[in-house]
Amino acid sequence: MNKGKEIKDAGWNFDNSYARLPELTFTRTQPVPVSSPEIIVFNDSLAEKLGLDPARLSSEEGAAIFAGNEIPEGAEPLAQAYAGHQFGHFNRLGDGRAVLLGEQLIPSGERVDIQLKGSGRTPYSRGGDGRAALGPMLREYIISEAMHGLGIPTTRSLAVVATGESILREKNLPGAILTRVASSHIRVGTFQFVAAWGSLEELRTLADYTIQRHYPNIDLEKTPYLSLLQETIKRQAKLIAKWQLVGFIHGVMNTDNMTISGETIDYGPCAFMDAYDPTTVFSSIDREGRYAYGNQPYIGGWNLARFAESLIPLLHEDPDEAVSIAQHEISRYSKLFQKYWGTGMRAKLGLFNEEEDDESLIDTLLGMMQKHKADFTNTFRYLTNEKPEETVLFGKEEFTKWYEGWQGRLERQEESKGSAIQLMKRSNPVVIPRNHRVEEALKAAEEQGDFTLMNKFLKVLEKPYEHTPEHEAYCTVPEPSGAPYRTYCGT
Ligand code: AMP
Ligand code: MG
Repeated sequence: MNKGKEIKDAGWNFDNSYARLPELTFTRTQPVPVSSPEIIVFNDSLAEKLGLDPARLSSEEGAAIFAGNEIPEGAEPLAQAYAGHQFGHFNRLGDGRAVLLGEQLIPSGERVDIQLKGSGRTPYSRGGDGRAALGPMLREYIISEAMHGLGIPTTRSLAVVATGESILREKNLPGAILTRVASSHIRVGTFQFVAAWGSLEELRTLADYTIQRHYPNIDLEKTPYLSLLQETIKRQAKLIAKWQLVGFIHGVMNTDNMTISGETIDYGPCAFMDAYDPTTVFSSIDREGRYAYGNQPYIGGWNLARFAESLIPLLHEDPDEAVSIAQHEISRYSKLFQKYWGTGMRAKLGLFNEEEDDESLIDTLLGMMQKHKADFTNTFRYLTNEKPEETVLFGKEEFTKWYEGWQGRLERQEESKGSAIQLMKRSNPVVIPRNHRVEEALKAAEEQGDFTLMNKFLKVLEKPYEHTPEHEAYCTVPEPSGAPYRTYCGT
């Protein structure tokens, strides 16, 4: 392998703290080389933010690195161990098709994980081939970058490399590897894993490490593990509120897919809702709607309870006392979620302050939207543009009444109508990655090797709150197709 100076000069600046954690949390593993790597998409602006040279890395040199054929200087590839409740069932897992190259220290002073996903088998692959298909990796690239554009904490996508090899799913598909960038890959499932199979010391080491990495303001002299729990609950409540406010459905909120950093992770069967309906589910395997749109806040709390359980030995030396501390914190989650969601919903309606009747103002609107199958994103966009006549609700008596009530509410607040509209513009995206647009871009890319649509789409998704003709072109909702849209787990 070529580990020479050339590669170092591309800006790599690794410091691999995770590799210094207790042995049980990972296994050193090399990515499995592929036959003919080729860069399909490369994120220039993210590369720059990471202190990497886009010109060099979007070339053959980058293709070799992001395929796992070459290891950049300073990287120490490893697969992380974790566990997880998958659809409620506890399993021992781990990176079955990913390796962490290491942590890049970036110009802003932050530390980020650089991970290859789809890079071959690891000791945690179980029955899997360790590989990923091009379509799902491009899908993760598009949706994670769209989430970033929307201002939602998320892992990012640096590159997708086609491997030149085919992988077998229902049929043969082109293989690909995604380079994922995250503030870390520490999951609820990482804690569950160490709580189940590690010692108390190892659990404490993981918790201390996580505090240092994500919550450096926590005072280690006081009750650091209680603070870790509280801060994680807060970040997740905030995150899931943000999902709800744009109609994002994660699709597979297993505890191994929930980060402690509060970033959205693991874009498998996720999708955005068109018509407002809390029961919306896209994932083909979620038959009971466990991860339906309206259930996400509840599942967030369920997952956090699993996190709290894993921290119990650290919360208090008396187990009963520890359990009651954990329960108390978990019981505060739904209020916290409601607070973030309420503030966000009021902003979507241009409201700066809070009034007692706001809840019913919001609920009435959502109720009408559900009843009349109003498009979630577009309804708020029409309200923002002061074009209520464009919503399907227009002309309905209940809507006329609601609209008057809302206008009255806007007039009662101190801020001007102009400021309210500005707030709405900041809070209501014009463009979301609608399913039919994602599919259209993927189809052209996968079947014709034509990336024009995808690149155009990615450009618009960088600034989803802008009202330009290019943006408006992405607002149309899909024609009803008869069959509901279905997504499949990251295969
Ligand atoms: P996910 O549903 O993507 O969160 O994956 C759940 C677990 O299955 C993770 O531990 C993955 O690493 C593993 N996994 C998914 N696909 C594969 C594959 N093709 N080969 C090996 N492991 C996989
Ligand atoms: Mg996962």
